[in-house]
Amino acid sequence: MQLPGGVWELAAIPAEGWEQEPGNTSSLRITILVAAAVVIIPIFLTGGLVSERQRNRAKIRARESELLTVSHRLNLALESSKIGIWEIDLETQGRTWDERMYHLHGMPAETVEPTYEAWRRTVHVDDIKAASLSLFRTLDEGLEYRSQYRVILPDSSVRHIRNVGSTHEGPDGKAKITGISWDVTDDVLMTEQLRAAKAMADLKNEELAQAKDRIEHNALHDPLTGLGNRRMLDKELQMLSGRNGLVDVAILHIDLDRFKQINDTLGHAAGDAMLVHASEILRSNIRKNDIVARIGGDEFVIVVSDPPSDIYLSQLCERIISQMRQPVDYNGFPCRFGVSIGIAVARETAVDERKLLVNADIALYRAKENGRNRHEFFTEVLQAEIITTKRIADEILEGIERNEFVAWYQPQLEASSLKLAGVEALIRWNHPREGLLTPDKFLKIAEEMNAMATLDRIVLDRALIDGMRWAAEGIDVPKISVNVSAKRLRDETLVNSLKGLSLRPGQISFELVESIFLDESDDVVLANIEGIKKLGIDIEIDDFGTGHTSIVSLLKIKPKRLKIDRQLVAPILRERSEQALIRSIIEIGRSLGIETVAEGVETMEHAEMLGLLGCDLLQGYAFAKPLSADDFSRFARNQLLQLAS
Ligand code: C2E
Ligand code: CA
Ligand code: CA
Repeated sequence: MQLPGGVWELAAIPAEGWEQEPGNTSSLRITILVAAAVVIIPIFLTGGLVSERQRNRAKIRARESELLTVSHRLNLALESSKIGIWEIDLETQGRTWDERMYHLHGMPAETVEPTYEAWRRTVHVDDIKAASLSLFRTLDEGLEYRSQYRVILPDSSVRHIRNVGSTHEGPDGKAKITGISWDVTDDVLMTEQLRAAKAMADLKNEELAQAKDRIEHNALHDPLTGLGNRRMLDKELQMLSGRNGLVDVAILHIDLDRFKQINDTLGHAAGDAMLVHASEILRSNIRKNDIVARIGGDEFVIVVSDPPSDIYLSQLCERIISQMRQPVDYNGFPCRFGVSIGIAVARETAVDERKLLVNADIALYRAKENGRNRHEFFTEVLQAEIITTKRIADEILEGIERNEFVAWYQPQLEASSLKLAGVEALIRWNHPREGLLTPDKFLKIAEEMNAMATLDRIVLDRALIDGMRWAAEGIDVPKISVNVSAKRLRDETLVNSLKGLSLRPGQISFELVESIFLDESDDVVLANIEGIKKLGIDIEIDDFGTGHTSIVSLLKIKPKRLKIDRQLVAPILRERSEQALIRSIIEIGRSLGIETVAEGVETMEHAEMLGLLGCDLLQGYAFAKPLSADDFSRFARNQLLQLAS
């Protein structure tokens, strides 16, 4: 732009493609005053007109002084901004540089002709082409010249130079390019630093994003198996329940059977390997949109979205069960475990994820109860049973507090004399609404809720009190047998809890079901049995003949009596083989010094046969059903009368 008075303003206005250079942000705006005014002094020598000459001289001096001022200002501006000025004569290609141009290019001032070749030698080889091209284009097309290149200075350092120029006609009428060059090294370096800093920041951001992903992944996944964890499951289920509209979904609650034994016997590394193996089976059996999560030690959940049918779910479970049952080798040990699966399905309903999980859990519980390695669907019937069980469980606790549990007694008689030899105390529940309940109505639930130890103790205490009452009435009951649940026998505090009782040896007998002795390695059980015996309490093995007691464990436990199970007693009148079996049991007992009691003796014929076979004691409906304490004392008094008559 030409300013009034012949002064040029050349501003380093960013051209296209330059804007990316942050160096430009400094938006160097340098106003350069180019003195374009060339003063042509017309000297009119008008002979004899001195006053005219003097006027003209004065004018010239004024112009010269004006010019000096402008050029001084220009120099000052150029000096302070370190801008070099150059010129190329378009006709001759001759170049003119000012002192600063030499300095900018690291050349000794004025010693070298600023030819194209001389300039070229200073420029970084990689930049020569682009800088030359833009110069040639300006030369050819008369366009504005803009370039930036690097100069290698004598000390090998690099200087970045930016150039702007334009063609114009000089005062001598010749076409030229006049331009300016200045040092932008600081800008470029700053730009590079900014770029590096930005790249670093980008890298850090990337790392942070990755770390965030990793943390999120870890928070939602099980590190061992890589499956989702409980939180992930909750999140997914919440999403499902939050979904608008009706949803079809099934939840499979999967629990490994026998996993604890593997962990206990082969160690945690084996356990871990099995969990990984199990997780692979589960993963390989699900579809793309299904989710599998490990929600506990050996518990998993699969969320099946849009299950095609219940048959599909059954087949899926059976596939998983059969694959899980295949033995897995662990360091040469074949490991076997099974799996039980509970299924809860929601079809075309808004999903209540918590309820669905609970339902799957209920179904799983049923699958385990029904023998493991199987799957069960949650049903309304199952739910009703669960509700009943829950109600009974609550009522059992209330019943304990309100003394509703009592002992009934079934007499045991000597086979040879039919004299009263003892009683078996059997629990009964005086239920406030349903009347007298037998153990089949509540015992299982009491066992599940760990109330059996309490109930056994109630019966024992009752029996001891009733025993004292009978003695006071003159009725001699030589022994009272009470049943002891398996859990109570595994209770380490059992012996201590019995120590306060003052018992006559043999007055109390503990009936232990045969199945307790299946696990011969149970040290607590063996220690408890020893402790019980030391307190003068006899041990009887209940339901003998239905379990798998070995002679070895019989020798170890040395019970006082074997109670032959009523399933073996019932057929003795018909089957000779059954008679032989009973005789063998009795003989084995005799040889080991163990008495035998036959239970379920329903007729006198049975009683007679058992007597002949050598059985010591008899118990059964042939003599009496279980009786309340009062009824028993009446029975015992009658019996005494009968024996006396
Ligand atoms: P059990 O120990 O085998 O008790 C004998 C069961 O057989 C009793 O049933 C009794 O009523 C029944 N019984 C007696 N004589 C005959 C007969 O001639 N024929 C037939 N068919 N049955 C006869 P109950 O009282 O219903 O007890 C059932 C089971 O409940 C008991 O079987 C015992 O395992 C358990 N039980 C009872 N009371 C207690 C207890 O206080 N604690 C523990 N832990 N279990 C108990
Ligand atoms: Ca019993
Ligand atoms: Ca029995």
